[in-house]
Amino acid sequence: MSARVTGRFAPTPSGRLHLGNLLCALLAYLSVRSRDGRFLLRIEDVDVPRCPRRLAAQCIEDLLWLGITWDEPPLYQSERTAIYEDAFARLEDMGLVYPCFCTRAQLHAALAPNLGDREPVYAGTCAHLSPDEIAERSKTRSPAMRVRVPDEDVTFTDGLYGIVTENLARDCGDFIIRRSDGLFGYQLAVVVDDALTGVTEIVRGRDILTATPRQLFLQRALGYPAPSYVHIPLLTDSEGRRLAKRDKDLDLSVLSKRFTREDILGLLAHACGLLPDWHPVTMDALIRDFSWERVAREDARLSPALTRM
Ligand code: GLU
Repeated sequence: MSARVTGRFAPTPSGRLHLGNLLCALLAYLSVRSRDGRFLLRIEDVDVPRCPRRLAAQCIEDLLWLGITWDEPPLYQSERTAIYEDAFARLEDMGLVYPCFCTRAQLHAALAPNLGDREPVYAGTCAHLSPDEIAERSKTRSPAMRVRVPDEDVTFTDGLYGIVTENLARDCGDFIIRRSDGLFGYQLAVVVDDALTGVTEIVRGRDILTATPRQLFLQRALGYPAPSYVHIPLLTDSEGRRLAKRDKDLDLSVLSKRFTREDILGLLAHACGLLPDWHPVTMDALIRDFSWERVAREDARLSPALTRM
């Protein structure tokens, strides 16, 4: 197999990309292109009702406007159900999957006391139902499907944040890989797609860092190689507030009327530490000078000049 690095950007098109998403796309792209690697685009529209094609087309348009290009036709998760079925069946054959009939209210009631911003740990309520119980409950409710996790530490080294360790049984519990409406969950789809498309480097937001141990576990179970990971700082407004899809003034529909592509590249590069101050810059110059060493670890703030201009 070739040693050429393969990276990807994998947006969920449930809204228009904001500058935080574009920063992620840019860093993933620069990391790969600065080493003459392969870059892929994957549209994570597995939750079809929330991700209309119109928004995926808009994502593509915005990335192209910024000067980001990919080497193969974009992949749409909504078209890959049969592939996820196959991976799911393999996990089932290993005895790792079980149905969960818990309602939202039951899940809440079984929760440990509030754990700050960590996701709730599943209490294992449905982990040992008998075949009769499963048959009985299936009459009135279609279950979500969970994967059983081991009580052992999963460790990886993140390119920016260093060593990260999590015990899945303690910190997360058995997690959902297929929803009760039949749609596959994000964790399974991501792992399958990254492996089957030969992705070797994953660059994405720090908000997904805690999902990575679950994905490493699934990779191991399915016999896939583990890619390397860089989770990048989040982009905030000039007051330190996290950007959200609702910040309409920070998407390209507005920004591309006020700024050039080089202005926006300079803005993003400055926010994450690649440029000492905000000035227009070309993609070629960013590729030439790129190094992870120069990317800041702390959250990246947008220049207050953005809203003054
Ligand atoms: N689709 C996810 C998002 O837009 C990113 C998934 C990933 O990069 O692994 O937040």
